[in-house]
Amino acid sequence: MKNVVVITGGSRGIGAATAYLAAERGYGVCVNYCQNHRAAEAVVETIRQQGGRAVAIAANIAVEADVIALFQAVDQQLGPVTALVNNAGILEQQMRVENLDATRLNRVFATNITGAFLCAREAVKRMSTHHGGSGGAIVNVSSVAARLGAPGEYVDYAASKGAIDAMTVGLAKEVAAEGIRVNAVRPGFIYTDIHADGGEPNRVDRVKQNLPMQRGGQPMEVAQAILWLLSSEASYTTGTFIEVAGGR
Ligand code: NAD
Repeated sequence: MKNVVVITGGSRGIGAATAYLAAERGYGVCVNYCQNHRAAEAVVETIRQQGGRAVAIAANIAVEADVIALFQAVDQQLGPVTALVNNAGILEQQMRVENLDATRLNRVFATNITGAFLCAREAVKRMSTHHGGSGGAIVNVSSVAARLGAPGEYVDYAASKGAIDAMTVGLAKEVAAEGIRVNAVRPGFIYTDIHADGGEPNRVDRVKQNLPMQRGGQPMEVAQAILWLLSSEASYTTGTFIEVAGGR
């Protein structure tokens, strides 16, 4: 059976790196994207030029109907899903707690946790041996922020990543006997555009001297940990976390 992976938010950053590496390892790849059609198609085109199998499928993972349609499209275009990387996430402008309102909290949680939950649900329906599936693996992209807060730094984001950690452990135990493994990576400071969205494009360079390895990470360094967790080399590993954070 061919491996098929759904990578949410796969058009750039850690998601795109994961898409390239998964294709290199023989997966059929669904590059999910929300708005950036051109970037998603560029990732797919690169994979195809290198002989891989990939499709770009639009879905806002915060919207339940979109997530259901996403997995139906994957069924049709690539075949049964065997792996899910819950990578899509948002980091909004840096803001102190006094200024955070429910609208923003709901927006951040809608993508970072509700979206990941909905994707996991659709994947489990297809992978579980209880539903006639052949098993599979899920990797959630959490963050060191879930455990290491810092003054003035996105309490909402940290809380959403803490929720992803809890979901990882709970879901891993729920589906362990059904052939599905669930793990997470916790990246540290990685060079991607998410920091510009958070209002500080040069954030990694600002903090890097204070990191044990004194450098930021590259998206591919996170992708390598994700691909290991998805692979059969991690066959007895579930409900756990890999910190990809240069020792932070
Ligand atoms: P990124 O902004 O390049 O990637 C996030 C992707 O998710 C984007 O392509 C974005 O369009 C997509 N996305 C956002 N909301 C979506 C939605 N509702 N539906 C579908 N797609 C959506 O940033 P990145 O750094 O590559 O982030 C990937 C993951 O890594 C995120 O979950 C992020 O929280 C996590 N992370 C990043 C860092 C870092 O330093 N870069 C550190 C820790 C954790």
